[in-house]
Amino acid sequence: MAARIIDGKASAARVTSRVAAAVSALQGAHGIVPGLAVVLVGDDPASGVYVRSKGRRSVEAGMRSFEHRLPATASQVELLGLVARLNAAPEVNGILVQMPLPRGLDPAAVIEAIDPAKDVDGFHPINVGRLASGADALVPCTPQGCMILLEEALGSLAGREALVIGRSGIVGKPMAQLLLKADCTVTIAHSRTRDLPGTCRRAEIVVAAVGKPEFVRGGWIAPGAAVIDVGINRLPTPDGKGRLVGDVAFAEAAAVAGAITPVPGGVGPMTIACLLRNTVIAACRQRQVRLPDGL
Ligand code: NDP
Repeated sequence: MAARIIDGKASAARVTSRVAAAVSALQGAHGIVPGLAVVLVGDDPASGVYVRSKGRRSVEAGMRSFEHRLPATASQVELLGLVARLNAAPEVNGILVQMPLPRGLDPAAVIEAIDPAKDVDGFHPINVGRLASGADALVPCTPQGCMILLEEALGSLAGREALVIGRSGIVGKPMAQLLLKADCTVTIAHSRTRDLPGTCRRAEIVVAAVGKPEFVRGGWIAPGAAVIDVGINRLPTPDGKGRLVGDVAFAEAAAVAGAITPVPGGVGPMTIACLLRNTVIAACRQRQVRLPDGL
């Protein structure tokens, strides 16, 4: 069996165009232009690339983008002061502080300082709790993107056996919550799980968020299962450029699975698309207007 390849680029383009339509509808009906503020502390080149791309993509979708840079030497007090100003700024509907922060800054305290209504990363304990309790939350972007891909590929997920490999607060745990909310029977695996291959073979949906290149083997996958590979790992190549691979051995798994995301071009593009979507959702909730249809 050759798996259907789930095209994350195409899906992300659809989400982004729905976001752009929603932004235009909000502006037309209510004069609201959603604004996303991204804070970068220090000069990590990879973080700089992410921040620029988030800003550019917000503007392309018709939103306002505010980029704030602080030097790596910035103190916790300075960073919290900036977050407080963004919390109070009416033109800012979403706030994202790019992680990782330089040493000496406390990421948990910074996340807790963000107004939960503007926490478009969905990492604030209030949003984590709201998601866990089944209430309306701002949901972390990568797992939200995985859910969109799964629902597009499979339709209703109700009753399906789902395995999430990884239990981080960014991906694994919120992913499991979302699958549970969609009425899956959910197992969460981690580094202490016994017989991971056997557990995996029982799953109709496998979400791999481990951070280890090609860790999930083809022989672990049940025939016809849907495989979502969140991993982004760069393997060295002779030309020094490196090659991106996921947490799943793609060719092996694609020979058995029913549907699978590639790396790159699978989950990755969904993350920014869902960030833009969260910013529109946050703006609507703050201004107490109905979400535009189809978002
Ligand atoms: P973390 O390192 O925070 O978490 C990894 C998880 O994998 C942990 O829960 C860990 O278990 C588990 N794990 C480690 N080894 C094993 C093992 N041998 N067997 C089973 N489970 C194991 O990573 P993240 O969740 O932040 O990220 C995971 C991957 O997703 C990374 O490759 C990252 O680059 C990628 N990523 C991609 C994004 C995207 O936009 N596409 C966004 C975010 C992440 P334990 O808790 O027991 O240590």
